[in-house]
Amino acid sequence: MNLIEHDKNFIWHPFTQQKNMQPPIAIKNAKGSLLFDENDKEYIDAISSWWVNVHGHAHPYIAEKIYQQALQLEHIIFAGFTHEPAVKLAERLIKILPGNFSKIFFSDDGSTSTEVAIKMAVQYWWNERGSMVNNQWSMENRESSNRKQRTENRKLETGNQNKIIAFNNSYHGDTFGSMSVSDRSVFTLAFHDLLFEVIFIDVPTEENISSTKKIIDEHANEIAAFIYEPLVQGAGGMKMYSSVLMDELLLFVQQKNIICIADEVMTGFGRTGKMFASEYMQTKPDIICLSKGITGGTMALGVTACSEKIYSAFVSDDAKKTFFHGHSFTANPLACTAANASLDLFEQENSLQKVNFISEQNIAFAQQLRQLSGIKNVRVLGTILAFEIAQGNDEYLNNISTIITKKSLEKGVYIRPLGNTVYIMPPYCISESELKKVYAVILELV
Ligand SMILES: *Cc1c(COP(=O)(O)O)cnc(C)c1O
Repeated sequence: MNLIEHDKNFIWHPFTQQKNMQPPIAIKNAKGSLLFDENDKEYIDAISSWWVNVHGHAHPYIAEKIYQQALQLEHIIFAGFTHEPAVKLAERLIKILPGNFSKIFFSDDGSTSTEVAIKMAVQYWWNERGSMVNNQWSMENRESSNRKQRTENRKLETGNQNKIIAFNNSYHGDTFGSMSVSDRSVFTLAFHDLLFEVIFIDVPTEENISSTKKIIDEHANEIAAFIYEPLVQGAGGMKMYSSVLMDELLLFVQQKNIICIADEVMTGFGRTGKMFASEYMQTKPDIICLSKGITGGTMALGVTACSEKIYSAFVSDDAKKTFFHGHSFTANPLACTAANASLDLFEQENSLQKVNFISEQNIAFAQQLRQLSGIKNVRVLGTILAFEIAQGNDEYLNNISTIITKKSLEKGVYIRPLGNTVYIMPPYCISESELKKVYAVILELV
């Protein structure tokens, strides 16, 4: 069977303009940092397979654990039931998460983890403030066909504290809620009328921090939560910002009694040099979102952890204060097992030490890149190194991306720039010689 031809006949690929698309590469197997195609040509996976891979592909330890778990229990409804992989994982996460977290809520992926976080934050205020009027909700709202009246009732229900603040240039996922709190961009153009209103602020700089605080202060009474990607805005172009200023901003936001939601879907599990990027700040989030690297990049799993304060607002004799959210595959035992195995490997393989090594190499390579003309904004945080090619506009649709991907693949390295933003984010198992090859190929291309 010609795989590529059959793919063309039956498959619609994500984030891909199907017209004139480069034929996809059929990957047969992978090992460590290496991908092997149908013809056994090898490629170094320099972006960890869309930022998910941690310990290398097809790691035998994780594979064995998933296999053994699949023989025991592959899935069970998570309402009214529980299982050891989920309980173990929750307990381990609570121990290592940066902040005072008390409960773990499972979902499916990064988008659902942020979706859950937003719903938790909004309903927190509804449960807390709206409780007096909530009881009238069912009768009044159902009987009222009057749209205006319904809107008024809704304001009462939420106590009006339901707005979200997010950063310009942010990305929190592709479902409607997570799109709403993401920057309005080419990704969301078709949906702008349907996305809920969000207060967008810039990532903190010396120049803007006081005016940003003013904006937050003016709206403080109506804001439910602040969602942010700590220190690196991933899909927005690997933009990095100061931990010191972020700390100042977070402290201010928390003093205003606004719930802080750290979206660590990309930054979690060692990516930025520490286990979680929030560790770089003193002020810790109230809610944290995890996915991508959580299973070592083997299976889909989302986690939203929250503090006791948030959780306790949902514990009530009033059934309406229940968190009515869940997914068919919530806390899937295979995914939880993979996550536990990945955490084992962090200890067994000293993964953070490897992260440290990559980080040092990146810093040295960045120095070299800064000498070159034609590129700008060279930056590093942990395993992430990024820069812009000074050609065309600084935007996602800059098609230099496609050219660079194609050329790097020919040379046996897989990178996938975001427009003219070239970045690497390798698995932590990448060897010194593989990393040197990635650097060499980048030097040849820029
Ligand atoms: C990738 C990403 C998401 C969305 O995760 P999916 O698993 O792709 O739905 C959300 N937030 C951040 C910061 C991400 O990088």
